[in-house]
Amino acid sequence: MKNLYTLLFLALIAWACKSGPENPADSVYINGIIYTVDEANPKVEAVAVKDGLILAVGTSEEIQAYVGESTEVIDLLGKTMTPGLIESHAHLMGIGYNKLEIDLMYVKTYDELIQKVAEAAAKAKPGDWITGRGWHQDKWLQMPDKTVKGFQTHDALSEVTPNNPVYLAHASGHASFVNKKAMELAGITPLKSEKPTQEVEGGEILRDDLGNPTGVLVERASTLVSKLIPEETPERAEEALTLALKELAEKGITSFHDAGSGQDVIDLVQKFKNEGKLTARMYIMLTGRQPELLDAWYKKGPMIDSIDHFVTVRSIKLNCDGALGPWGAWLLEDYADKPGHRGHETLPMSVVTEVSERAIPLGFQVCAHAIGDRANQEILDRFEAALAKNPEVKDHRFRIEHAQHLHPDDIPRFGQLGVIAAMQAIHLSSDRPWAIDRLGEKRIIDGAYVWQTLMQTGAVVTNGTDAPVEPVDPIPSFYASVSRKTLQGLPEGGYEAEQKMTREQALKSYTLDGAYAEFEEDFKGSIEVGKAADFTVYDKDIMEIPENEILNAKVEMTVVGGKVVFKR
Ligand SMILES: [Zn+2]
Repeated sequence: MKNLYTLLFLALIAWACKSGPENPADSVYINGIIYTVDEANPKVEAVAVKDGLILAVGTSEEIQAYVGESTEVIDLLGKTMTPGLIESHAHLMGIGYNKLEIDLMYVKTYDELIQKVAEAAAKAKPGDWITGRGWHQDKWLQMPDKTVKGFQTHDALSEVTPNNPVYLAHASGHASFVNKKAMELAGITPLKSEKPTQEVEGGEILRDDLGNPTGVLVERASTLVSKLIPEETPERAEEALTLALKELAEKGITSFHDAGSGQDVIDLVQKFKNEGKLTARMYIMLTGRQPELLDAWYKKGPMIDSIDHFVTVRSIKLNCDGALGPWGAWLLEDYADKPGHRGHETLPMSVVTEVSERAIPLGFQVCAHAIGDRANQEILDRFEAALAKNPEVKDHRFRIEHAQHLHPDDIPRFGQLGVIAAMQAIHLSSDRPWAIDRLGEKRIIDGAYVWQTLMQTGAVVTNGTDAPVEPVDPIPSFYASVSRKTLQGLPEGGYEAEQKMTREQALKSYTLDGAYAEFEEDFKGSIEVGKAADFTVYDKDIMEIPENEILNAKVEMTVVGGKVVFKR
């Protein structure tokens, strides 16, 4: 009798082994329209996942063979899936703090801005700081009656906030708007006063004809006030990071290039990783604004997470010029709408040389912010010289962040030098309508947002949003990439249509090219066997639907390392 049971048991095992898969998946995704960004196998129906990696790709029938007893089967029901999206340039903590501050990004008039601040002031205790960000005077439907140098003045703002200092950062991050109370605390006084404020190098306190400060501070002048705002507490930082990660998951972002942070953020992200709370892979650039931070990392060398691929620090961010909005982008010739002005560098160019020369032999990547054609040219020159001194280093992957406006001669240099153009297509939608005022038609056509020319001349172009400058949502940026229209769908045919990306190029710029820009193209960025199971699922086929429907598409599910981190 006992033997019979043993026999039966053995037979059962034999049957189970025969019918179940030898190598069952942890999960399978079937019945999808899956764009893999793998040229050899561009479109499949199903994917099998094991231990956070892709085990197999194929038809739903083929993948059925990996379904074991404990395999989770996710039926995509005909929905579209791509490799997990990579945001290649944005500001992690900014996204989170933005959610804790007054969001002025969608404000349509100056009056609406005043109203929002007045509401916050009503809730605040006297003396509390009121902070906000995201305003942009060029996005308002109309300007207030009184303007100075193209900006509003503080009178109405100060009237509703007599007891609270107010600091409101411009959407570009390159200017701020403050109230009377904040200026009193910072000692920003009229020119005719007994102690007129010293001008700040690399910045400007805007003043009216009488020499009175208007409340608008450009570039470094903002620090007169921003340095007075109480330091963020660790609790608030955790809250901000939690909110930022939630936002990324909801928007389908599985990897994130943080464009410049300090050790505090690196430590906090590591803490989240250790606590299992990090739901997107982080590629953190060291901020070049803290020389002592760079010195410490030069000694340590890069920190490359080759095990979990969740937190890597191997690049240095340098901020080299301002933005076009406040005429801060550094140009080779005068602004079309501000004769005699060419913007300015925001750090000495010798720093670009010095940092590049130190970084290359140590294996650090340099990511230099440049918007105007002069800034781009200066940086390409300096990158080229530093690389020439280290001819043995071939795989440097230096980047220019934004690369918005280029001299035609400099466009092919990106490909020649192997410098990545880390661009944000959404900036075209938001900025192109007024950027032509700054640059004029010829410079716009020859060198502004020239994605296709860069790609054709061999450059890798990545995509993103520069959030919180723009919302971190990748769908509008994808739409901008392929349409070159505003989010209102204008103009018909798009701006400089020859520079549009194809949908395949746009998807690659948001996946595999983003992975390349962080040295991770062998690990992620496409749906191939052995790569990370990072996926983004959409309710619409963003590769096929008519262009005007793209903006209605929504992320349905986000998967990082085989784990579902968001589901609508
Ligand atoms: Zn940025």
